[in-house]
Amino acid sequence: MSTGTSVPPSRRHGTIALLEENCTACMLCVRQCPDWCVILEAHSEDVLASAGSRARTRHVVDRFAIDFGLCMYCGICIEVCPFDALFWAESVTGPGSRMESLVAEREALRAAMSQVPVPEPVGAPRTG
Ligand code: SF4
Ligand code: SF4
Repeated sequence: MSTGTSVPPSRRHGTIALLEENCTACMLCVRQCPDWCVILEAHSEDVLASAGSRARTRHVVDRFAIDFGLCMYCGICIEVCPFDALFWAESVTGPGSRMESLVAEREALRAAMSQVPVPEPVGAPRTG
């Protein structure tokens, strides 16, 4: 019988991190999430690439949050994101005393990027 403290495997799926610079507010993660727990609000802006060019429309994220009271950690949002804006982080989602406290806003999701493991080289042996 083991008496030691179990060590979680490395590269575990703890919580979800947002690399906001990569997010284009395409809404794919919002639509594909089976629990509707990705909250995204955005607005459109016209930008000029250069003087004389036609204005292009880009979406600007106003709010990005995940309700971890609903999330079942299926990873679909991470898989479907076409712009590599979502990642598994090793830190775990903290408990909350109220349902609202389980909603992680963009600041918390951005901060979780520091807990995203560096990708292993192709062919490297699994450590966890
Ligand atoms: S992990 Fe699954 S349930 Fe959680 S936010 Fe992503 S798609 Fe939704
Ligand atoms: S799928 Fe990716 S790029 Fe699109 S809204 Fe979600 S996080 Fe942003």
